[in-house]
Amino acid sequence: MIIVMSPQAGPKDLRKVKDRLQELGFGLHLSAGVERTIIGAIGEKTPEIIHSIEAFEGVEKVVPILKPFKLASKEFREKTCVQVGPVTFGGERIVVIAGPCAVETEEQLLATARRIKTEGAGMLRGGAFKPRTSPYSFQGLEEEGLKLLQTASAETGLPVVTEVVNPRDVELVATYSQMLQIGARNMQNFTLLREVGQAGKPVILKRGLAATAEEWLMAAEYIIKEGNYQVVLCERGIRTFETATRNTMDLSAIPLIKELSHLPVIADPSHATGRKSLVLPLARAAVAAGADGLMVEVHPTPETALSDGPQSMNFTEFNGLIQGISPFVQAMGRKL
Ligand code: PEP
Ligand code: MN
Repeated sequence: MIIVMSPQAGPKDLRKVKDRLQELGFGLHLSAGVERTIIGAIGEKTPEIIHSIEAFEGVEKVVPILKPFKLASKEFREKTCVQVGPVTFGGERIVVIAGPCAVETEEQLLATARRIKTEGAGMLRGGAFKPRTSPYSFQGLEEEGLKLLQTASAETGLPVVTEVVNPRDVELVATYSQMLQIGARNMQNFTLLREVGQAGKPVILKRGLAATAEEWLMAAEYIIKEGNYQVVLCERGIRTFETATRNTMDLSAIPLIKELSHLPVIADPSHATGRKSLVLPLARAAVAAGADGLMVEVHPTPETALSDGPQSMNFTEFNGLIQGISPFVQAMGRKL
């Protein structure tokens, strides 16, 4: 349930309510707005408890949250902006995250970082730990790749996001990158979600290959429950009967999540389609549907990429993407 304090409530009123809720065994999460404070109380509630809390001085109302996700819900918070260095997700700007599927070499990564920066990208992506469908495919450079990401970030000033696939690597990945990514295949790896929640770093949580919107938000709830509200959701396509594209991009998920949650939402048209010719049209559509950002794969020579070459754009194509989304960004009253 959420307890909405009245704008006149003082710190003493707040403390009394919090003390009582703690006595009753609730886990508490505070959201201090400009006008008023909201307490998220997670635990077993009864109508008696609701009425007794409503009787406290300074309490305006007590609202049960009926959805299974509580802290991720719109009822609990109106809007969350996620800050990663100079970049804000959920603000006026559409954040473009670009980079190779996998970090391969210093030259590959630095050339990409420099060029995407020139074209106006806000963040660099690149996998050092690659969760590949086949165990025989390139698995990533691991710590060596993380070091290259750090170098590219230091040189260009672009914050980096990279995937962490194993709970025991969370600390390591967090020392090299400004933002952690949980990939589609790990969306319901609850140990990993908890660990990432505790790391206190901003997170991109990709939608699972066959996850419903509710399951996705429940995964976000795991991270937030650890006290980390810095979660950005990423729609990256879901598995359907269609095989012409790698996945099916669920465009409706973007406005749907915005109705249900306060978290920023971005879209990854590269993994959603698996084909670079479809990246621009879907990037435009995602922006028009209200996405707060885009994640796209860019490689200096996609034809030699060690992973996801067919969906990776070269530099000229990335320039075309930025030009091509620009009128759509403007039409949405936003900026690049
Ligand atoms: C990625 O972004 O590198 C990736 C593996 O994507 P996904 O988890 O969406 O498949
Ligand atoms: Mn990829």
